[in-house]
Amino acid sequence: MADFDAIVVGAGCAGSVAAYELAKAGKSVLVVERGNYAGAKNMTGGRIYSHALKEVFPDFEQQAPLERRITHERISLMAPDANFTVDFMSDAMNVPGQDSYSVLRGPFDQWLAEQAEDAGAEFICGIPVEELVMEGSRVRGVRAGEDEITADVVLLCDGVNSLLAEQAVGAARPPASQIAVGIKQTIELPASVITDRVLAGSDDEGAAWLFAGDATKGSFGGGFMYTNRDSISLGIVAGIEATMTHGKAPVYQMLEDLKHHPAVAPLIRGGKVVEHSGHMVPEGGVNIMPALTGDGVLLAGESAMMCVNLGYQVRGMDFAVAAGMHAGREAARALDAGDTSKAGLAGYVAALEDSFVMKDLRQFQKVPAFMEGLDRMFCGYPEMIRDMMNKMFVVDGSPVEPMRKQMMPIVKGMGMMNLFKDVRGAMKAL
Ligand SMILES: Cc1cc2nc3c(=O)[nH]c(=O)nc-3n(C[C@H](O)[C@H](O)[C@H](O)COP(=O)(O)OP(=O)(O)OC[C@H]3O[C@@H](n4cnc5c(N)ncnc54)[C@H](O)[C@@H]3O)c2cc1C
Repeated sequence: MADFDAIVVGAGCAGSVAAYELAKAGKSVLVVERGNYAGAKNMTGGRIYSHALKEVFPDFEQQAPLERRITHERISLMAPDANFTVDFMSDAMNVPGQDSYSVLRGPFDQWLAEQAEDAGAEFICGIPVEELVMEGSRVRGVRAGEDEITADVVLLCDGVNSLLAEQAVGAARPPASQIAVGIKQTIELPASVITDRVLAGSDDEGAAWLFAGDATKGSFGGGFMYTNRDSISLGIVAGIEATMTHGKAPVYQMLEDLKHHPAVAPLIRGGKVVEHSGHMVPEGGVNIMPALTGDGVLLAGESAMMCVNLGYQVRGMDFAVAAGMHAGREAARALDAGDTSKAGLAGYVAALEDSFVMKDLRQFQKVPAFMEGLDRMFCGYPEMIRDMMNKMFVVDGSPVEPMRKQMMPIVKGMGMMNLFKDVRGAMKAL
């Protein structure tokens, strides 16, 4: 007989939610986390879209350590000497289930783990799972140091760069073109200062801000800023291959320069850096997704590459929460049926296919290839917009030409065909 009904590897969003569902269904479940506590090693931008969380924890707004509700969406095209920003607010973003919140993974992941623990899950932290215990091609448990612990089903929720996924289902290592590196600083400031600087309505509200162009020195990727209650998360996500082959600066330099850009410096002025972090980001989505199940094993969250970066939206946590929920529920059903083989776990794949997880990942499957070929978004369009805005807003006393005559040379400089191609490409990919 196995030591546990289920073992979950990793106490991130996917893992703790899966453990919560399994424990709630009355199963004995052990979570093994390599960090000293849940969230110790985890990183996000970040903001979580609430819809998936609400399905698991309908009252999460009252309980979870949320930072601020995001009420301002900002997107900037950034040139070295200029910045063009779209600022969007809408009542629709405040409706429960349609809203989103900035979070810090330390407190947030500990809260998720507490929900699982309260439901009956056991946690061991500070121990990495080094390999899986196999019987032929069937996963029987995990090996951590000298210990071997067995279970009827193992849930791999160990995030991007999962070596265990390779062992369990033969997941291929993703190519450098499909992986980005993210770095972030958390910069402390008084809550009211942040509120005033981003023009939020109160200390409970805040902004999500993405920057394309000079943030990554014109190469594939972008900058991000999220307001927490009394800190700002500021960072860079940069494609690994693009940075290696034609990046104009190392990623840490991109972040240092972003902090000094005139559009960003006033936001963080006087702030104190209290945390640095770095993490990989899978950008290939469904194109690099491994098999989601094997005999005695299933994968949820970023161990299965469930993440999308659309340039105006980064999503991984809502996928991880939803996948963790389905993984926990379907693993419990398979345990009840006494069949945790790949065939017995097929309900998990069906549930994901039926949910927004696979539907959205498939919807955006052309985005990575489109983004990779969209050099002009990072170097070209920001400068074009700057030049157009300069024509509109700079008055120097010289006679003004008709708007069409001012704008056409700038647009033609970029190439009408290029513009047409990129807009058409975006329509097809998004
Ligand atoms: C810079 C950056 C910005 C992002 N911004 C956003 C955003 O704004 N919104 C959004 O929704 N998503 C964002 N994401 C993506 C999001 O953070 C991830 O998709 C999400 O955290 C994935 O959750 P997960 O549970 O699958 O994995 P993780 O949160 O990575 O959890 C995996 C867990 O497994 C543990 N683990 C790993 N290996 C082992 C092992 N061998 N043994 C034991 N434990 C192990 C880890 O310590 C960790 O606790 C961002 C990511 C980055 C890096």
